[in-house]
Amino acid sequence: MKGRVYLLHFSRPYKHAAHYIGWSRYLKRRLAHHKAGTGARLLQVIVEAGIDFELVRVWKGVDKHFERRLKNQKNTARLCPICAAEHAARDRARRALSRCQRSSRAKSMAA
Ligand SMILES: [Zn+2]
Repeated sequence: MKGRVYLLHFSRPYKHAAHYIGWSRYLKRRLAHHKAGTGARLLQVIVEAGIDFELVRVWKGVDKHFERRLKNQKNTARLCPICAAEHAARDRARRALSRCQRSSRAKSMAA
């Protein structure tokens, strides 16, 4: 059966969970259930904890095997556009910092 696999990003992590991957044939209805806390157990807990979530990615025309494959990857953050952008920004900052430290070390050795 074909449906949609969707990725939800939490506004802040709950324990180790920062995302939710689900499959549905009726995505809008499913999301309404999630928001109301009547869908998946994890999202019910998220809603109760006052954590917001947003739909960040949808794969159309896929079955539940596809959902299983994504879940088994155990690296959901990489699939998330928000987290991937943050990761890239952190990476850039780290590289810029190490460049800066190298050049200040070179200067102090020259002095
Ligand atoms: Zn994310």
